[in-house]
Amino acid sequence: MKMWIDGRWADSTAAQVIEVTDPATAEVLDTVPAGTPDDVARAVAAARAAFAAWRQVTAVERAQMLHGAAAKMREHFDELARLLTLEEGKPLPENEEEVDWSLNTLDYYAELGRHIRGRVIPSPDAGQLSLVLKEPYGVVGCIVPWNYPLLLLLWKIAPALAAGNTVVVKPASLAPLTTLRMVEVAFDHFPPGVVNVVTGRGGVVGDALVTHPDVPVIAFTGSTAVGQRIARLTAGRMKKLHLELGGKDPFVIADDAPLEAAVEALAYAALINAGQVCTSTERVYVPRAMLPQFAEALAERVGRLRLGPGIEPTTDVGPMIGAAERAKVEEHVAEAVARGARVLAGGRRPPHLARGAYYEPTVLVDVDHTMAIMRDETFGPTIPIMAYDTFDEAIALANDTEYGLGACLYTHDARKVRRFYEEVRAGTIWINDPLTDNYAGPFGGMKMSGLGRELGVEGLEEFWQTKHVHWDMEGGIKDYWYPYGEK
Ligand code: NAP
Repeated sequence: MKMWIDGRWADSTAAQVIEVTDPATAEVLDTVPAGTPDDVARAVAAARAAFAAWRQVTAVERAQMLHGAAAKMREHFDELARLLTLEEGKPLPENEEEVDWSLNTLDYYAELGRHIRGRVIPSPDAGQLSLVLKEPYGVVGCIVPWNYPLLLLLWKIAPALAAGNTVVVKPASLAPLTTLRMVEVAFDHFPPGVVNVVTGRGGVVGDALVTHPDVPVIAFTGSTAVGQRIARLTAGRMKKLHLELGGKDPFVIADDAPLEAAVEALAYAALINAGQVCTSTERVYVPRAMLPQFAEALAERVGRLRLGPGIEPTTDVGPMIGAAERAKVEEHVAEAVARGARVLAGGRRPPHLARGAYYEPTVLVDVDHTMAIMRDETFGPTIPIMAYDTFDEAIALANDTEYGLGACLYTHDARKVRRFYEEVRAGTIWINDPLTDNYAGPFGGMKMSGLGRELGVEGLEEFWQTKHVHWDMEGGIKDYWYPYGEK
C-alpha cells in the first residue's frame, strides 16, 4: 500500500518498505512505505494548508462529514473487521466491536462538535461582553499503537476534526493496513489535506512528526517510555501533549463477590486481546480465605478457552502480536516462578499452534510485589493472583504502582465501592463490569499512565485552545487609567 497525503495515495521518498505480517501465521499480508522526514514534511504542509479553510467550515458541515465517514465505515464494516483481525490477531468479534466503536465515535463527536463553541461569562462592568472561545490549534500529529489501531485513532481524529483541526496520522508499523483502507474508503469526501497518513518507523516518522514546528499538538497512545521521549523532544517548543500511556491495572475481588461472576469478569478483563490492552487486568487481589477456591475455579475456566487464529469463529483468545512481545511475557513468568510463584494454568506456548506468537492464558499464585509480573507492564495473557487480609491492604496494594490507568473491583458492598473509587488513584474505576467504555466517559491515566483524556467532552476540549475575549462596547475613559491620584 502507499501513504495517504493531501487526499490521494502518495509514494514515499524512500524505497524501503515495512512488511506487515499476520500474527496467527507469520505470513506477510502486505507492505507499507517506510516513510521519511520528507514525507512527514509533505503531509504536514498539506495539513497546514488545509487548516486555513477547514477551521472556517461550519460546525454543522463538519458534523455532516463526520457522520458521512461513520456511514461509509458501516458500509465497509465486515471488510475492515476482517483486515484488522488479519493484521492485529485478536478474535473477529473483538474487531467487530472495535470497528463499531470507532465509527460510533465519529457520530458522537459529530454531534458534540456542533454543540459547543465556548461560553459567555459575566463581565466586570455593564456594557461589556466577555466571551470564552474555543479554537482549533492547527495540525494535530496522531500516533497510535497496534493493539486497537482504529479505535485509538478515531478517539483522536474524530474530536480533533470536529474541533476544526487537521491531522497527520502515524499508524503503528505492526498494524497500519486497516487505517489506510479506512481513510481511503471513509474520508475521501473530506477536503484534501484534512486527513493524512504517513507510515514508517516510530524513530523516523514519529520523531519527525513530533518535532515538526508546524505541529502544535501531539496526540499519542503507546508506551510510557515513548511518551517520555516525546515529552523530552517537544519541551523546547511548548507543544500541547496528549499522552495515553501504559498501565498495570489491579482487579480487587471483595469477600462478598459471587465466585462464578467474578471469575468470568476477571478472565475477560485479563485476556481480551490476549491481554494486550492498556487497561488489561495485570494483577489480582483476592481475600486470603477465598484464594484457593477462586484460583482453582479461574484456572479451570481459563483452561477451557480456545486458542487459535482470530479469524476462526471458535477462537476465544488469538495470538500475541509478535515473538518479541511474547518473549517479554515468558520472561515475566520465568522470573516469577524462579522467585516462588506457582503456575496453575498455562505458562507455555501451546504445542499445537507453532506458527503464530501464541501463549497459553496463564494463572499464577504465590506472587508478590517484588516480581516484575506484579510491577512492570506484562502486556500478555497472564493472571497473577495475590492474597490480601483486609480491604485496607487491598487498596494499598492496588495503589502500589507507578501507573494509574484503570482499576477494577468486584463487590456488591456499597461501602467498599465508595472507598475504592475515592481512594484508588486511577483514571477509570470499573465496578463489576470491567473494561467497558462509554463514549461520554472520559478515558485516560493518572501518574505515569499519561496526560489528558479521550472521549467525552474532555476528549474534545483536548483539541481546543481557549481564548478570552473582553469587549467594552461603550469604550469610554476609565477612572483607573492614568494619571493615578486625583484626576
Ligand atoms: P510504542 O512502542 O510506544 O508505540 C506506539 C506508537 O509510537 C507506534 O506507532 C510507534 O511506531 C510509535 N513510536 C515509537 N517510537 C517513537 C518515537 N521515538 N517517536 C514517536 N513515535 C514513536 O507502544 P506499542 O508497543 O505499540 O503499544 C503498547 C503500549 O501502548 C503499551 O504500553 C500500552 O499500555 C500502551 N497503550 C496505552 C493505551 C492508553 O489508552 N493509555 C492504549 C493502548 C495501548 P512503530 O510502530 O513504528 O514503532
